[in-house]
Amino acid sequence: MYRRDGVSFRWFEGGVTNLCHNALDRHVAAGRAGQAALVYVNERGDRRVLTYGQLLHEVRRLAAALRGLGVRKGDRVTLYMPTCPEAIALMLACVRIGAIHSVVFAGFGAGALADRVRASGSKLVVTSDVTFRKGARVPLKGIVDEALRQVPGGVEHVVVLERSADGAALEPGRDLRWDQFLATGEGQSSDVEPMEANEPAYILATSGTTARPKLAVHTHGGYQVGIHSVGRWCFGLKPEDVWWSTSDIGWVVGHSYIVYAPLLAGCTTVAYEGALDFPDPTTPWRMVEELRVTGIFTSPTAVRLLMKYGEEPALRYDRSSLERVVCAGEVLNPPAWEWLQKRVLEDRVPVLDHWWQTETGGPVIGNPYGIAQLPIKPGSAGIPLPGMEVGVLTPEGEPCAGERGILVLRRPFPSLTPTLWGEPERYARDYWQRIPGHEVYFSGDAAQVDEDGYVWFAGRADEVIKIAAHRIGTIEVETAFLKHPAVAEAGVVGRPDEVRGEVISAFVVLKQGHEPSPELRQALVDVVRRELGPVAVVGEVNFVSMLPKTRSGKIMRRVLRSVILDRDPGDITTIEDEGSVEEARAAWRRLQSELASR
Ligand code: AMP
Repeated sequence: MYRRDGVSFRWFEGGVTNLCHNALDRHVAAGRAGQAALVYVNERGDRRVLTYGQLLHEVRRLAAALRGLGVRKGDRVTLYMPTCPEAIALMLACVRIGAIHSVVFAGFGAGALADRVRASGSKLVVTSDVTFRKGARVPLKGIVDEALRQVPGGVEHVVVLERSADGAALEPGRDLRWDQFLATGEGQSSDVEPMEANEPAYILATSGTTARPKLAVHTHGGYQVGIHSVGRWCFGLKPEDVWWSTSDIGWVVGHSYIVYAPLLAGCTTVAYEGALDFPDPTTPWRMVEELRVTGIFTSPTAVRLLMKYGEEPALRYDRSSLERVVCAGEVLNPPAWEWLQKRVLEDRVPVLDHWWQTETGGPVIGNPYGIAQLPIKPGSAGIPLPGMEVGVLTPEGEPCAGERGILVLRRPFPSLTPTLWGEPERYARDYWQRIPGHEVYFSGDAAQVDEDGYVWFAGRADEVIKIAAHRIGTIEVETAFLKHPAVAEAGVVGRPDEVRGEVISAFVVLKQGHEPSPELRQALVDVVRRELGPVAVVGEVNFVSMLPKTRSGKIMRRVLRSVILDRDPGDITTIEDEGSVEEARAAWRRLQSELASR
């Protein structure tokens, strides 16, 4: 079923399929046109429901319009749009005609967008005039104009979905309003383009923070089979589900588990545009009650955000429709797991962590809930899912039996990205040739496997802290901080220390109702010492109101490290809030002067 030739591999070679056909047409042909396919909700309380029949109709109109604009099989289309029905329909329409979409998270700025447009070689960019976040209107079209000034030539058209009364300024000859775009579809075919299984369905920049984005490629065949199978095995996706992935279409989770896998499985998928705690932290729980959500896919950063407000907002709503909550993106620290599992869900349904990357397309390690739920070990991502062969090696390629090392994937599986767009050598070098003499996929994550085969992640391999020859994962230290009831979030890094090599430098966000104090600082140091032993030497605890995070919610420890080393933070185009860097810097300086004045 698959052919491997060194680092390149192909799945279902010669097979013909189309991801959009199986996500929509197949269900409509089976008589399910009337079932809700997509429920869209936003933070302003708007709601729209599209059935499979209606979504297919929209996708057909957009497919014809794309063809009317001259977009053909293999052409790239950049989508810089919020998570809204038009954007989702457009993703499916691109895939339908064999065009390759490249969704850029609508929170990125002009520089990051320009890099991604350039790397993808898109001829069309689709955007909306505005998106809404935390009650504010964020203009998007102006950012597109600014980005395209940095990428002269190449992009032929910009299509604008007008969502506000003011609209956006259009450049004659280049820009089209949504109705003008749809009109180009007149007389055009909206039929499905037959695609060979290994042809790309989409490309998506990885969350890597190098200036030159890496565009992971996902295919019509392997990706489709991979996310569908693993969606059933790991999440138990079934047609009766009302499935809510709280992610955004700008991330791979949004691609695989808001859009493609739930539709392939015939579920009702929920797409939410906005912040989870806006207008207040009851929002997600109200949605669960009103939509009778059966499954949630969320992230540790979202869990910790809600945990900051306590469980009371959740307990006000009926959560009885929920069958499981799955979580990925970072380690789900045991205190956060316990809060959700025990306090919010009252142990009625499982909260399941699972591990993957943009490049893997779908989960690799998890709890195979859809086949047989295994005991949950809080803090572990679970076991390798069917078909996944993982290993833990030293950087030199020695096996680490029971010890911490670098997680590697020993062979390809259908949803694994088979190449980076336009950069096969970079793909080989960065993933398959990192460990000399071993042709294994290098994940970059530090992990260890316990006697039951459960995988425990410790953070990125290059972020492990080395104190007096002991190696401590950033995750275990952060988890120890979270054991203190006042702590909402913690980000830790190693700070060079003459005696011990490194000591822990921590940045801590407190829960509502707690204030920084020297006593609290000491209490936190004590908790870490109690949890991890005397080897875990905490150099300092900095109190901040937010941590530097990527826009997908991952703590940016390299930025914290730049703060304590007083270095330039490097490329921070993917950061959520630049103010977090200044705040960390101010907290660090304040602490230094406090210590100096003692
Ligand atoms: P992305 O490509 O943006 O999805 O990020 C992938 C990275 O997120 C992985 O390499 C891990 O560092 C981290 N990650 C994702 N899921 C988990 C998890 N369940 N536990 C620990 N780390 C995770």
